[in-house]
Amino acid sequence: MKILVIGAGVVGTCSALQLQRRGHEVTLIDAAPEAATGASHANAGLISPGHCFSWAEPGITRVALKSLLGLSDGLGICAPLSPALWRWGTLFAREGTEARWLANSRAALALSAYSRDCHFRADGLPAEEYGGRHAGILYLYGANDTPGAHDAELLHAANEPFEQLDADQMDRCEPMLAHSAIRFAKGIFCRNDGTGDAARYARAALAAFQQLGGIARLGERVQQVLVHNGQAVGVRTDRGEQRAQAVVIAGGLHSRELLRPLGMDLPIHAVSGYSITYENVAGALPTRGAVSIPHKIAWASFAARSVRFTGFADVGTPDARRAQRRLAALDAFARQIIPALAGAQRKEWVGSRPMTPDNLPFLGASGIAGLWLNCAHGAMGWTMAHGSAQIIGDLIGGDTPAVDLTPYRWNRYGFLGRRAPPQQPKEL
Ligand SMILES: Cc1cc2nc3c(=O)[nH]c(=O)nc-3n(C[C@H](O)[C@H](O)[C@H](O)COP(=O)(O)OP(=O)(O)OC[C@H]3O[C@@H](n4cnc5c(N)ncnc54)[C@H](O)[C@@H]3O)c2cc1C
Repeated sequence: MKILVIGAGVVGTCSALQLQRRGHEVTLIDAAPEAATGASHANAGLISPGHCFSWAEPGITRVALKSLLGLSDGLGICAPLSPALWRWGTLFAREGTEARWLANSRAALALSAYSRDCHFRADGLPAEEYGGRHAGILYLYGANDTPGAHDAELLHAANEPFEQLDADQMDRCEPMLAHSAIRFAKGIFCRNDGTGDAARYARAALAAFQQLGGIARLGERVQQVLVHNGQAVGVRTDRGEQRAQAVVIAGGLHSRELLRPLGMDLPIHAVSGYSITYENVAGALPTRGAVSIPHKIAWASFAARSVRFTGFADVGTPDARRAQRRLAALDAFARQIIPALAGAQRKEWVGSRPMTPDNLPFLGASGIAGLWLNCAHGAMGWTMAHGSAQIIGDLIGGDTPAVDLTPYRWNRYGFLGRRAPPQQPKEL
């Protein structure tokens, strides 16, 4: 089948490769001149079902109000407060009941664990191509922090192995922590989780896709999805028309602009984060991924003498002042964890997570035949990319996916989640 995949981030490149491997004739289109220039560019690199739980947790409205007043450290809200932000925020708050949080987290865990297992299976790309490590992730807590009341229950119910560690056990698990100026009192170690550089993976997936005969049209912006008789028939780009029997939307944050004219006004909003990649580091580096839960900062190493610290969540897009403040705080934290970073070279990055209010992607069929959604993976797109690509491959091939897709359906938000009636998609 002739298929167009829109978006060459980690989700789109994994999808294109998967579909090409299954014998389809695939064209991958991206507005940027190379793969992974969006959210996939310099993210934390954690493949982390062990901590994939929904951010819309009980009490989140109080945290959001504190953020509006500038009183919350890890979470911020960027001006201007647009109607899109209010709508998204209202839906996000609605997901913050215990029952919704549990359901959303269960669904996130199901897709994340499936995806991680696909990723580290033999059909993934060689680990050396993207600095991949299947060495577990440490989730760290201070003496006064308590892991979420239901985290262990959720992991246990999903048969995800995890161990609770004290400070000494953590130092043995990650020797680098012994040199850190910040001491963590306890941690949870999820040995099946892993790490890797998502951008290098996307570039390697693109190369593998092209080697199999897939066509990449980079530097070409899709302006419109073309629909005829209720069926997606191709796209119009700034270079002309491309026809196909199926179109996969993997445009991350910008998927909403492509879908809105079709009557699918999906609540996808930017939630920005920050990373600093340190290079030429002279000193001990982490041997596995880690997250300081109270600081909302993660770190991992994807190459010799290099380590990346990533953190914070600001709803919207930060101005230069906020970005500078966040990066300075991240740098100060990183130097406490690894004193040897003082003399290292650094690359700073600000990126936007394509977030939905329930932190679950839109994955599967859309309101239009032949138009498939694989977008809005929020804070977990690297973790979920491989499994989501398998699922899209299954659906287009007429096979039943291994994961129940009900939680990720495009029209789950009802009236509040879309303004145009989805049953009557426009002809374009
Ligand atoms: C700070 C930060 C840390 C993160 N850490 C992690 C982590 O540790 N683990 C994890 O699992 N996830 C993490 N994430 C989330 C993850 O990075 C994203 O969910 C993931 O990268 C989304 O991938 P994507 O391919 O859907 O989107 P993107 O990488 O944004 O790619 C979308 C692509 O679509 C293209 N596009 C859009 N519209 C069009 C159009 N009209 N025409 C042509 N091309 C178009 C864009 O140019 C872009 O290349 C993090 C994100 C951030 C910001």
